[in-house]
Amino acid sequence: MLTTHAALHRAKFLLWVFAVALIASSAFLLAYGSDAAPSGVTGLAPASQRVAPLAGAAIPNETPIPFAYSPQVAQMIAGVQQSQVYSYTGYLSGKFPLTVGGESFTLKTRNTYYPAYGNKATQYEYEFLQGAGLAVSYQDWYDAYWDVSGRNVIGEIRGATRPNEIVLISAHLDDMPIRAVAPGADDNASGSVGVMMAASRLAGHTFERTIRFVFFTGEEDGYLGSYAYAQQSVARNENIVGVFNMDMLGWDGNNDGLLLLHIRKTTNPAGSAADRAIAEVLTQVVSVYGLNGLAPRIRADGESESDHSSFWDQGIPAVLAIEDDWIYEENPYYHTQSDTIETLNMPFFTNYVKAVVGTAAHLAIPVGSDIGTATPTPTPTITPTPTLVKPSSPALLAPTNGVSVNTRQVALDWSDADRATRYKVQVRRGSTTGDVVDRQKKLTTSQYSTVALKSGRRYFWRVRACNAQGCSVWTAYWNFQVRAP
Ligand SMILES: [Zn+2]
Repeated sequence: MLTTHAALHRAKFLLWVFAVALIASSAFLLAYGSDAAPSGVTGLAPASQRVAPLAGAAIPNETPIPFAYSPQVAQMIAGVQQSQVYSYTGYLSGKFPLTVGGESFTLKTRNTYYPAYGNKATQYEYEFLQGAGLAVSYQDWYDAYWDVSGRNVIGEIRGATRPNEIVLISAHLDDMPIRAVAPGADDNASGSVGVMMAASRLAGHTFERTIRFVFFTGEEDGYLGSYAYAQQSVARNENIVGVFNMDMLGWDGNNDGLLLLHIRKTTNPAGSAADRAIAEVLTQVVSVYGLNGLAPRIRADGESESDHSSFWDQGIPAVLAIEDDWIYEENPYYHTQSDTIETLNMPFFTNYVKAVVGTAAHLAIPVGSDIGTATPTPTPTITPTPTLVKPSSPALLAPTNGVSVNTRQVALDWSDADRATRYKVQVRRGSTTGDVVDRQKKLTTSQYSTVALKSGRRYFWRVRACNAQGCSVWTAYWNFQVRAP
C-alpha cells in the first residue's frame, strides 16, 4: 500500500501521465486523421491500409503504406482465362468473326484508312463495355492536316469516395499496315484485350477512384485520338492521377518473360517519380500475386512512341506498358500482315493481362477491399541495362540536300551507324519545326521509302540510330522539294 505523501505524489504523477497520453492520442488522430472511414462512407479501407498515393491524389501527406495483397483483387485476377484472351484477340485480329450491332462481321483490318472497319471495331468495343455494365461514350476527333477522323471509346466506373481522381487504363485499337487485311494481333489487339479484360474483371466492383477504360484510335497516325482526349481532359480541368497505357503485350519469342515499363527520364524528377509510382504498382502486383512468369523492368528512358506521350505532353503521369521490344528481342512481324494471333506467346500474354487487371484494381483502390497490412515487399531491383555504348550518328546520303524529287514516295538513304540495331526517321512539312508527316521508329535497314507526300511542298527529314543502350543524337535536317505529276 502506498503512503499518503507518496500516494499524493503518485496521484499527481498518474495525472501527468494521463494528460500526456490524452494529448498524444489526439495529436495522432489529428496527424493521421481518424483511421475510420470519413463519415457517411461505408466499406472504405482504413487510411493506413490504402495503396500508395499517386501524384494527383487529393489527400496530401498520405503515408504510402506497404503494398498489400487483397483477396478481392486476387479473385479479379484469377478470372483471367487464356482461352478468353485468345478469343478476344481472335475477334480483333480477324481470325474469326465477331458480333457487332447484332450481326456477324470479320474485322480484317483496323487501319485508320479503312474507316468502315475502324467504325465496326469501335462499335464492337462500345458494345463490349456496355455489356459489362459500364457508362460508355464515344469521343470523335478530326485531324485537319491529314483530313482523317476517328473516334475513341470510353467506358467508366465512377469512383465512390474520390470520384475526381481519375485513372485511365488505355490502348490503341487502330493498326498497321495500311492494308485491307491488317490483323495487328500484337500491335495492338493485345493491348486492347488488356483493356477489355480489365474492364470486364473490374466491372461490378466499387472503387474509391474513377476508372476509365479507353480505346484510342489514330495512334499509328501520330497519336491523334489520345492527343484529342488529353486536350479535352485538360480543357475540362479533369484530375487524371495516372495513365496506364498498353501497346503490344503478346510477343515473347525467347520466353524470358521480360516486359518493359517506360517512364519519363529523371531529368524530369517530379514527372519521373510520378510515373514510377504507377509502374511500381504493376511490379508489386507481379510479386504479391505470384505472377512468376513475368520479369518487369522499369526504364526511365522517356520512350515516347505511343499514346502515353499525349499525357506526358500535358504533364499528366503516365506509363507505357509493353513487351520486350527493345532489349533482347522484338516482334519481327511488327506492322506487317503477318502480325497474327498464331505468332503470340499466349501464356506470357495471359500473365501480362493478369498483371494489368491487378494493376488497374490497385490503382483505383477497391472500396471495402479487405486489404491487409502484409509485410512490406521489397521493390524489385531494377537490373542495370548492359553497358552497351550508344550507336554513332548516321550520315544522310540521299536525296542530296535541297534537291527536287519527282516522286511522292521518296527513297531516303543514310549510312550504317556503328552499333546501331534500328533507326528512327522523322519527316516534317515545310520546316524543321513543321508538323511530322511521317515517323518511323524501328527501321532495321538504313533506307526508307516515305508515305505518299504532297507535290509542290518542301519536306525536312532527319535520322537517329538506336540500340539497347539508347539512341544517337538526331542528324541535322536535310530537305527536298516534291515535284511529282
Ligand atoms: Zn502500337
